[in-house]
Amino acid sequence: MTGSVRAVVMTGPGRPLEHRRFSSPRPEPGGAVLETVASEVCGTDVHLHHGHLPGVPYPIIPGHVSVGRVLETNGPVRDVDGRTIEPGRLVTFYDVFGICGSCWHCLVAKAGTRCPHRRVYGITTSADEGLLGGWAERIEIKPGVRLLPLPDGLTAEDFMGGGCGAPTGFHAVERAGIALGDTVVVQGSGPVGLSALAFASLAGALRVFVVGAPAARLEAARRLGAEDTLDVAVARPEERVAWVRARTEGRGADVVIEASGNPAAVAEGLEMVRDAGRYVVVGQYTDAGDVTINPHRHTSTRTSSEPPCSWPAIGRASRGRASSRASMPSRTRAAPWRTWKRSRWSRR
Ligand SMILES: [Zn+2]
Ligand SMILES: [Zn+2]
Repeated sequence: MTGSVRAVVMTGPGRPLEHRRFSSPRPEPGGAVLETVASEVCGTDVHLHHGHLPGVPYPIIPGHVSVGRVLETNGPVRDVDGRTIEPGRLVTFYDVFGICGSCWHCLVAKAGTRCPHRRVYGITTSADEGLLGGWAERIEIKPGVRLLPLPDGLTAEDFMGGGCGAPTGFHAVERAGIALGDTVVVQGSGPVGLSALAFASLAGALRVFVVGAPAARLEAARRLGAEDTLDVAVARPEERVAWVRARTEGRGADVVIEASGNPAAVAEGLEMVRDAGRYVVVGQYTDAGDVTINPHRHTSTRTSSEPPCSWPAIGRASRGRASSRASMPSRTRAAPWRTWKRSRWSRR
């Protein structure tokens, strides 16, 4: 394969995008080259252009979720079932790669997302390394990158319609542990929020309310099955909380999913969830600033399913005390009555 291919390059925060030509790539052993069919422009790309993500090796070729047709492989490349993926097959791929499996984060904490070797197509890959993003006519699939053939009957356009919002919304619903009959509020009506709405319904939620904007997105939410929607542009924060409570017998929702990306939504969402409900935050991917929350009202009563002084806590704490009592300082261990009047507490 000779010649050159075109790619769109983001050279730095706030700088105009550039069309550049790259030499047509050949696959590494164990890798592949895709002819790009579709790639997405998502909120992360906007954050990348604003310079809101640290450690990005500009210039980059953005596009972390894409669909392509396999042009060439260098040795067999297989799917998760061990089947060989032949040239001509329509595939997507898992944009995260390079997780080492042997560092402290991978082995001990089981948190591959914190592995220092973790890399992501279109975000932490430089254009100087090759075509490692979807805004290009070809995509280089590195050895070890997981290819996923699109199921028959699913078009590239349909798959990309969900984009990276679909797995993010799916993950939010998984983490929320939605039960049959739950009432759910989704904050945000972008791709993540709309996906969370759809998956929450599939997971058994009886009613899903969406608080977001603009009107066209809320219309899409209603078409996807939202019980009701509220436009954030026409209601103040306290009105939005009251709107949710009016629809939940004053208690708040069983589950609230934050998918807005606005830090203020977190404090607001914590007011929308019922006592001992679940609150899942998936929208705060970049640092958009600080907000104030009330730790007692927002976390002590709202979001824990057990009071802090639960029966297991008492049992375990007393066993722990039994083994550590000898090392406790004497003033903590016993306060005789005669010392009480002299203590600073009695002077209050
Ligand atoms: Zn690692
Ligand atoms: Zn994305």
